[in-house]
Amino acid sequence: MTTVKNETAAYIEQAERYGAHNYHPLPVVIAGGEGAWVVDVDGRKYLDCLAAYSAVNFGHRHPDLVAAAREQLDRVTLTSRAFHNDRLGEFLARLARLAGKDMVLPMNTGAEAVESAIKVARAWGYRVKGVPQDQATIIVAEGNFHGRTTTIVGFSSDPTARDDFGPFTPGFVSVRYGDAEALAAAITDQTVAVLVEPIQGEAGVVLPPDGYLAEVRRLTSERNVLFIADEIQSGLGRTGATFECDNAGVVPDLYLLGKALGGGIVPVSAVVGDARTLGVLRPGEHGSTFGGNPLAAAVGLAVVELLETGQYQARARELGEQLRRRLEALVGQGVDAVRVRGLWAGIDIDPRLGSGRRVCELLAERGVLAKDTHGSTIRLAPPIVVTCEELDWAVDQFEAVLRELAA
Ligand code: PLP
Repeated sequence: MTTVKNETAAYIEQAERYGAHNYHPLPVVIAGGEGAWVVDVDGRKYLDCLAAYSAVNFGHRHPDLVAAAREQLDRVTLTSRAFHNDRLGEFLARLARLAGKDMVLPMNTGAEAVESAIKVARAWGYRVKGVPQDQATIIVAEGNFHGRTTTIVGFSSDPTARDDFGPFTPGFVSVRYGDAEALAAAITDQTVAVLVEPIQGEAGVVLPPDGYLAEVRRLTSERNVLFIADEIQSGLGRTGATFECDNAGVVPDLYLLGKALGGGIVPVSAVVGDARTLGVLRPGEHGSTFGGNPLAAAVGLAVVELLETGQYQARARELGEQLRRRLEALVGQGVDAVRVRGLWAGIDIDPRLGSGRRVCELLAERGVLAKDTHGSTIRLAPPIVVTCEELDWAVDQFEAVLRELAA
C-alpha cells in the first residue's frame, strides 16, 4: 500500500522502532476481531483470510472458547506441572479420544511440539528399537516448515530460515516431499522416524500425490520406524476433517497439534500418541513451565468439544468445495495454479502480474487479509465460521485485484 492513514502510521512506527524486524507485516493495525472479521484502529473492517495461519480456525473470540477462558481466569491459570490441576486430565483424555490414541504430551507452541516429538522418537529408537546411542536419524521432507528453533531450522531447505543460524543439530536426512521411493531408499536401521506435514502449508499449501501418506504409513510400519504427522497447521478442521491424515485414510504414530488447539486465545500444542511411543518419557526428562496449564487446558478442552461435534470439519469441507470451484475458474486468468483442501488454498499468481506481496496489499485495500509465501503464492485460510457469501465476496475481491494488475 502506498499511503497509510496517520493513526495507522503512528502504531506502525512505534512497532518498527522498538520491535525486532523478524516480520514484514502488511500495514494494517488490527484492534478488534469477531468471527471471520477484524477491525483496524481506523475502524476499517477486513475479512481475515489468514486466520493467524489457522490458529483461528473457529473464528475470533468464539463465544464458547471465550466463555471457557473467562471462567478459568476466575479460578486458577497457572500451577506448573509440579502439581496436578483439575482441568488438565479431562483435556488430555478427550483429546486422546478425539485422536484415537492413548496419551497426550501437552506443550505450548508448535515448534515445542515438534521438538518434543523429536526427543520422543529418539528415546523410542534407543530404548525400544535398539538403535545404538546417538546414531538415531529422522527423515524429513524438502520444503518442510516445522517451526523456528535451531534444531528445526537446521533441517529446513529454506535459506532464509537457516542461513547464519548454524551450527545445526545432526541426525536429520531430507528427501523430496511426495516421493515415496526416495523415502524408502533413505530408511536405514538407524532411522527412528519420518516427520512430514500431510500438506506443506508454509511451502504454499502443497499437496502430496495421492497415496503418498499411505505409502509413508506402509513403509514406516514395515521398517519399524515412527510416522510423525505434523498436523499443526493442517489439523483440527482446516482440511475438512479432524486431521488431514483422516482424508488420506492413514493413522500416524504421533500427531503433532498446535495453533487452533489454543482457540486463538492461548498457545496450546500437543504430541498425541500411543503408550508404546509417548510412554517412553520418564519423569524429569521433558517438560515446560506453561505446558498443560489450567487456562490452556480449559481452552483446549473447549476446542476439542467443538471438534467432537464434527460441524467444523463438515463446514470446511462444504465451503472448501465452493472455494475450489471459484478459484479453479481463475486458472489462466492471472492464476497459474491452485491447490485446495478443505478451506485452505494455495494460489500461484502469474508472476508477470506482480508479487504475492503486492496482491496481498491490494487485497487489504479491498478489505481482505491474506498472506503471500515464496514470491508469488497466496494462501487463503479463512476462519471456518466464514459464511458462503463472505467467501464469495473475498474471491470477488481477489478477482478484482487480478483484473487491476492485468490492466
Ligand atoms: N509445524 C507447522 C506445520 C507449522 O505450520 C508451524 C507454524 O506455522 C509450526 C510447526 C510451528 O508452530 P509455532 O509457530 O506455533 O511454533
